[in-house]
Amino acid sequence: MPGERRMKIVHTVTELRAALAGCQKPAFVPTMGNLHDGHLALVRQAKPLGDVAVASIFVNRLQFLPHEDFDSYPRTLDADCAQLQAAGCDVVFAPSEQDLYPEPQSYKLQPPPALADLLEGHFRPGFFVGVSTAVMKLFNCVFAGAPQGGVAVFGKKDYQQLMVLRGMVRQFALPIDIVAADISRAGDGLALSSRNAYLSTGERLEAVQLSRELRSMSALLQAGEHNIAAIEARAVQTLTARGWQPDYLTVRRRADLLPPMPADLHPGHLVLLGAARLGKTRLIDNLEW
Ligand code: AMP
Repeated sequence: MPGERRMKIVHTVTELRAALAGCQKPAFVPTMGNLHDGHLALVRQAKPLGDVAVASIFVNRLQFLPHEDFDSYPRTLDADCAQLQAAGCDVVFAPSEQDLYPEPQSYKLQPPPALADLLEGHFRPGFFVGVSTAVMKLFNCVFAGAPQGGVAVFGKKDYQQLMVLRGMVRQFALPIDIVAADISRAGDGLALSSRNAYLSTGERLEAVQLSRELRSMSALLQAGEHNIAAIEARAVQTLTARGWQPDYLTVRRRADLLPPMPADLHPGHLVLLGAARLGKTRLIDNLEW
């Protein structure tokens, strides 16, 4: 159609650099694909922040443990590209493993254990090494030729990831602004996630309980409950009794994700984070308080 905006889909770093030649300031949204409205909200948020909106689709083997769902992770490139085009994306970078890792990625980026070995890093050892290494590489692919640096948008859904990547950008002095996007939720409150596709009909109905439990924890804090251990234990017990296998439901400081001191128990300083398995599906969610 005349005048229709054409989104470019590129697969190699060389093609990406050619597609971005002349761009001043890319606004970038890295994803693992199987896109939902949460991802598309990130793209819409990114769009006005640069002169070209770039999304990547790459299922990053480095951040999966051997027993995790790397092989079964849903890969839906054509549908993803149609949605990205409609959301205003200009360039999609969808490399194969061979394109992004032509030789084994033996240089790795080691985020600080004080942040990266907690919570997700505790239950998924090496996860943030894999995330940081891949994101640093994607950043180099997207931003290397950009005279004004750029912007990268990440979702608060992966709260700890956002903190790890903010630290990476700061400590390596990368010319990239990290922008945080609010969590997109389904009508019942379940945080949107590619992994929701794994849930059976019954599990999908139950899945909302993770966000409800975080809201109950928040209500207890709001009511003045200062016994954090009791709040956490109650939440774990409730989900366990409903058939979940929680990894953690916890109250942490927003600043460093450490357990709060009494002086921290004020609204605006805390975040409630949860990770739990329902059947074979591991879900995460969080709520700032
Ligand atoms: P993923 O494809 O799961 O690696 O996610 C790619 C980006 O989308 C990350 O920055 C996620 O935090 C973000 N994201 C995923 N789900 C949501 C959601 N429900 N709300 C907001 N951001 C999300």
